[in-house]
Amino acid sequence: MIQKQKGTYDMQGEMVEKYNYLKRIFQDLMNEYNIKYIDTPIFESSDLYHRGVGETTDIVTKETYDFKDRGDRNITLRPEGTAGIVRSVIENKLYTTLPIKLWYEGPMFRYERPQSGRYRQFRQAGVEIFGDPTPLMDANVISIMVKFYERIGLRGIKVRINSIGNKESRENYRNALLEHFKPYLNDLCEDCQNRYEKNPLRILDCKVDSDKECMNTAPKIVDYLDEKSKKHFDDVLKYLDLMDIKYKIDDKLVRGLDYYTDTVFEVEAEIEGFGSQNVIGAGGRYNNLVENMDGPSVPAVGFAFGIERIINALDAEDVKVISDNSLDCYVIPVSENELENAVMLVNNLRDNAFSVDMDYTNKKMPAKFKEADRYNAKFIIIIGEEEVKNNKLTIKDNLTKEEVKVERDNLIDYLDVNI
Ligand code: ATP
Ligand code: MG
Repeated sequence: MIQKQKGTYDMQGEMVEKYNYLKRIFQDLMNEYNIKYIDTPIFESSDLYHRGVGETTDIVTKETYDFKDRGDRNITLRPEGTAGIVRSVIENKLYTTLPIKLWYEGPMFRYERPQSGRYRQFRQAGVEIFGDPTPLMDANVISIMVKFYERIGLRGIKVRINSIGNKESRENYRNALLEHFKPYLNDLCEDCQNRYEKNPLRILDCKVDSDKECMNTAPKIVDYLDEKSKKHFDDVLKYLDLMDIKYKIDDKLVRGLDYYTDTVFEVEAEIEGFGSQNVIGAGGRYNNLVENMDGPSVPAVGFAFGIERIINALDAEDVKVISDNSLDCYVIPVSENELENAVMLVNNLRDNAFSVDMDYTNKKMPAKFKEADRYNAKFIIIIGEEEVKNNKLTIKDNLTKEEVKVERDNLIDYLDVNI
């Protein structure tokens, strides 16, 4: 038997309802914030991610799904959404009218060690705002995330925020970190020893070494920010306070992607026993990315969240998802003689926008009623010999079990009033 690939899952059953619930709430939110949908391809040239995500990131060094297509092109399955959207903004010249506010949702691919909340194919939804450099927009973007978690009914969340400044302050900070960690190099994990050479900021991000003394005594980036970055960060915090959004400044938060400038943030699920994959969303400002990808200089800020981890968090908090999976009517022809009548009725009801199903396989009556229950049907419509003769239908409310007879011509009105 062929089985699914390691690190993948089939979205089916209850998960479909939870996914639809999240998507519905997110779509409504996007509408309220005047953010437009964009869908970019799932595969792009490998170069896009090498340049867009960064050569030294975990994603590019060890997590991409790369292959050569039949035309000998180097292709990568998208590991994240931002690079593809930036490409699209440049290629379609969307930057000619700024600001532009976009959202996306879809599958991402990373070759990771699968575990709970960590898959090789997973879904992210996110927002990217181009052409607004203000700290107010950073705060606004964070508020969208927080609002989303509130709306879906998640209670235990924690926002962590930091500023990693501009390129120059980061360079100075980088040198300070190299100096600081030099004597402790042998105490650090193998990954961190590599990071020391390539991207020492990422040492602060390390989950293995996080409790070591040299981590706590490391210099803090806030002391290396220039006046402009400091003011930007202070203003972001001011607006968050104004919007009554709780946050915690985390001076070790540097984020894994190379493209961030100034504000970076992560949202954690703070639920007992939730486990270690508890970062349910993250983002930041990336003022240089569009230009680095050969576009004009356009500032940007955005976030992405992981759908599966949010579903896990909802489960851990036992949040009941409001589902829309009930059926309006289940039509039961009593015998084969009423089958044609039933087919016409079902067709007509669907044209009137009711969700309707019927049994085509000629099951026994009790089995048909069971089927109606399985589909959560609100009404069962029974068509027998008498119903056809009198042009009436028997309608059973499947909750109260009450039965009424309704003229065929009045059926739509009856359902309109009662559903
Ligand atoms: P982590 O540190 O957990 O690996 P990350 O920094 O790689 O996360 P991002 O690239 O910022 O994650 O992606 C944003 C969000 O997408 C994460 O906060 C998480 O919720 C989700 N996510 C990332 N990788 C995976 C994965 N392999 N499986 C499921 N969700 C993921
Ligand atoms: Mg990762």
